Amino acid sequence: MSRKQDPQKPQDLKPETRLVTAGRDTALHHGFVNPPVYHASTVLYPTAADMIAHRARYQYGRRGTPTSEALEDAIRELEGPGCAGVALLPSGAAAVSTALLAVLAAGDHLLITDSVYRPTRNFANSILKRFGVETSYYDPLIGGDIARLFRPNTRAVFVEAPGSQSFEMQDIPAIAEAAHRHGAIVLMDNTWATPLYFRAFDKGVDLSIQAGTKYIGGHSDLMLGTVSANAETWSRLRDTVLTSGLCVGPDDIYLGLRGLRTLSVRLARHQTSALAVARWLQQRPEVLRVMHPGLEGDPGHAIWKRDFSGASGLFSIILKPAPEPAVHAFLNTLSLFGMGFSWGGFESLVILFDCTDYRTATAWAPGGAGLRFHIGLEDVGDLIADLERGFAAMAQTR
Ligand SMILES: *Cc1c(COP(=O)(O)O)cnc(C)c1O
Repeated sequence: MSRKQDPQKPQDLKPETRLVTAGRDTALHHGFVNPPVYHASTVLYPTAADMIAHRARYQYGRRGTPTSEALEDAIRELEGPGCAGVALLPSGAAAVSTALLAVLAAGDHLLITDSVYRPTRNFANSILKRFGVETSYYDPLIGGDIARLFRPNTRAVFVEAPGSQSFEMQDIPAIAEAAHRHGAIVLMDNTWATPLYFRAFDKGVDLSIQAGTKYIGGHSDLMLGTVSANAETWSRLRDTVLTSGLCVGPDDIYLGLRGLRTLSVRLARHQTSALAVARWLQQRPEVLRVMHPGLEGDPGHAIWKRDFSGASGLFSIILKPAPEPAVHAFLNTLSLFGMGFSWGGFESLVILFDCTDYRTATAWAPGGAGLRFHIGLEDVGDLIADLERGFAAMAQTR
């Protein structure tokens, strides 16, 4: 006699499996594997009474469609049981600003890591300041000592690990513990690791932000932001998004969902290739330092190993002092590494960076030019050969 087994519960499935199954409702879509793209503003109500009572599964395009719900549900399931809801925003920067606006008010004090993504700093220093929120920056290595920076009006702490461009790791559980003891909300920019490699809600984060533009999209062809909230912050986040009128175009949501399905295989490849290139760069005489928390000798390695289950494809190096034309010759010779902002797509990228001008809580004096690499899905040998050509051109330019 055969007995029908209960389906496995989502929380019992491995994250790689959840990436494939999450947010799918094939019964709703006539059996088709992927949801249709609803291009929608107006939703019609069957009767006047229904309209007055807002009695409808969907009410208006901006307030959600089956397309937006599919991606929100998928990310919520990926985040795990600590996540109460997910909001989609038109960019990662919009996700950062909206999450901050959801939890702050005039008169509040905000703590932000000095290693934060620079536009996050710009938002705090301009718009939040104008609306009466004061921001202090802290050393990303502060850990539990952050407790001494709390004031009676400190309402939120913004963490990002590893640091944008500079790759310091943060002791997020220790920071979250101190924050919660002081009644403050913890927001995290989790773009680098994604929910696949850093389980934000298990580590004490209340609002977890991702630039979906990066690894969720994965193909350098869309702008998207997501904010995942726990039960304590979800209604504030949801109200803020609905009230401010922010929403994402359905085609970009669809591309985000499509990218999400292959996140685990892409990230695994980004991880191994980036570690291989990082190790190769460590041996190069032109390189002073490689900043990648997945490397055994990295100052952040122990925390990374404790808290993260993987590394993505983004890391930085500091070159030994070299004349600017030599550094430019290196960059201009590369053919597989494009020079351009953003990252998380299938292709390798490199940018020059310098944190000297804007850091306020920590000094940035690395001793040479900073280069940030995104290692794409190309063959590692080809990438290393490209870098070798770059270094050869650099030597000729000295
Ligand atoms: C790119 C990025 C963002 C902003 O994302 P956009 O979609 O470009 O607005 C936010 N945080 C981090 C860490 C990023 O790298």
